[in-house]
Amino acid sequence: MRLLCTNDDGILAHGLGCLVAAAEPLGEVTVVAPDREQSATSHSLTLHHPLRPILRGERRWQVDGTPTDCVMLAVEGLMEERPDFVLSGINHGQNMGEDVLYSGTVAAAMEGISIGIPSVAISFAGGDLRADVSMLDYQIEPLTRLLKHLLNLRAFPPQTLLNVNLPPVHGDDIKGVKLTRLGRRVYSNSIKPMLDPWGRPIYWIGGGSIEWSGHADSDFRAVEEGFISVTPLHLDVTHHAMLDSPESWWQEL
Ligand code: MN
Repeated sequence: MRLLCTNDDGILAHGLGCLVAAAEPLGEVTVVAPDREQSATSHSLTLHHPLRPILRGERRWQVDGTPTDCVMLAVEGLMEERPDFVLSGINHGQNMGEDVLYSGTVAAAMEGISIGIPSVAISFAGGDLRADVSMLDYQIEPLTRLLKHLLNLRAFPPQTLLNVNLPPVHGDDIKGVKLTRLGRRVYSNSIKPMLDPWGRPIYWIGGGSIEWSGHADSDFRAVEEGFISVTPLHLDVTHHAMLDSPESWWQEL
């Protein structure tokens, strides 16, 4: 089995090292990852300068691009054969609820799906950028077991990526795996007004507080309870229910 590993925290990130350690018992791992942090770059593609891959070891490529660039370049340029799966992560922070709309980690899995490769995004739900990822060392074995399960599903759901969030507990304390839906989150005070060194006003996006809401089977609830959350996400954002009942909102033009 050929496994392509990437992330959005950069090729040196601890989470990527843990993902590779978890994936190696399952197949031949190729890493193609950004040369620097690309968190919250979503599904962006680099069009205005070329990409220069640098070989950092056997099947280990560093790319001066986004997670989406990495998957596209890996599949179409660097790997001799297509990977059987794309694995993205382990992100240094949760990707639950609306996070998935900003996440480069999830977008790399979206890119995998959009070029026809089953893909899994994995995030460590230990807070945001300041997550203490040293705990991931104790989750490598459980992650290997989970990946083995996911990569051998009866049928990997078509046109669907699996979005995994690991709870911030030691491996032995993980209670199990729950299938979940996306929750909702509201950020408060997440834009910080400041002054630059010359006294001019600037604004920095980050920090603040998060409030979660959602059904009993939401991703954030599973993680809060110490379960691994697995949410199937599909890329068709058409609102099918709205199309099925246009009389509820649409007027003939
Ligand atoms: Mn990240």
